[in-house]
Amino acid sequence: MSRTMGFESRALDHLMTFLGIEALSGQEGPVCDEIRRRLLAAGCKPAWIRHDDAHRRLKGTFTVGNLIVRIPGTFAAPRRMFLGHMDTVPLCRGAVPVRCGDRIVAKGRTAVRADNRTAVAAIVAAAEVVLRERRPHPPLTLFFPIAEEIGLYGSKAVRPADLGRPAMAFNLDSGDPNQIITGAIGATRWEADVRGRSSHAGMHPEDGVSAMLAAARAIETVASKGFFGAIRKGRRAGTANVGIIRGGEATNQVTDHVFVRGECRSHDPDFLATVTAAYRRAFESAARSVRNVRGERGAVDFRTEADYAAFRLPDGHPAVRFACRAARDQGLKPVTVRMNGGLDANPLTQKGIPTVTLGCGQHGAHSVDEFVDLAEYHAGCRLVLDLMTRA
Ligand SMILES: [Zn+2]
Repeated sequence: MSRTMGFESRALDHLMTFLGIEALSGQEGPVCDEIRRRLLAAGCKPAWIRHDDAHRRLKGTFTVGNLIVRIPGTFAAPRRMFLGHMDTVPLCRGAVPVRCGDRIVAKGRTAVRADNRTAVAAIVAAAEVVLRERRPHPPLTLFFPIAEEIGLYGSKAVRPADLGRPAMAFNLDSGDPNQIITGAIGATRWEADVRGRSSHAGMHPEDGVSAMLAAARAIETVASKGFFGAIRKGRRAGTANVGIIRGGEATNQVTDHVFVRGECRSHDPDFLATVTAAYRRAFESAARSVRNVRGERGAVDFRTEADYAAFRLPDGHPAVRFACRAARDQGLKPVTVRMNGGLDANPLTQKGIPTVTLGCGQHGAHSVDEFVDLAEYHAGCRLVLDLMTRA
């Protein structure tokens, strides 16, 4: 009993500390420093801790690489990995976490960094027990990715060899520890440069080719064919959205350029391709359909970028069964579910590291109503400790 109490109070201390650290995507340095400090204090060897060079290989302003801790096993077994991304969304800027009954909430009108510092804290709390109490364990990798929130960049860039090629991974990035997330949706981002031809809108509108009209027709076409918002075609489903339109300079000028950006999602990779193709076709034919008196038509440059690929681990997969067994032994009631958002588990599973995502108490992510459920957090900590030490 006293050991459990010690674990809970240590876990709470880690939680409050990590919730209090400011670090948006690309600026994870302060979180890295605190993880390092706490693991070293628990008995982690400096040689086990490293940063990769993901931040230098990525385009953009990234200040640190992924933090990777490889702990040698005390018994021979396939390596297990535990991960939790270090970055938070901008809505967490300035957050001050406070306890409110059995929850941790933000003091002001911000998010509270529960996504995903609950994970960082839970992994550090469990690793601390493993190291301090010299619990028997297989080779372990603790992986703290950068820049998850802006496009899963850290886990997309990480090299499996740097992670020690784990046989299975457990990604902490959800709320209810009873939910074992075994699959996630795939997404494609697209953008279209719609080109037309300028002319005076009052004196010679007939000479113009309106990119504005072409873009409007394209969007109306996909919507009328059922490819906008929630999409269902027979048994196949997905979503699509047009999120950004920019263009035009003056009301008296036929618009010669409009930039449009959107996204498509589906758990079914073939259907994702179908939806994305519907957008491409709609923009191409809409651009051609707008013409001036001389028969000149609009044109479009339509580009797509695979954001992340859908995946699904079957319920019989060893990693899923392992997680479910541990959850049941911890008194939880595990159910397997799929997510409609991308996770670090998407690129990792694609790289050959089957990754199950687990919850440790975060709720209301990316909103000012975000909170940590402390009972779920502690259940998540116990589950992580079990998974780290289970024979
Ligand atoms: Zn997250």
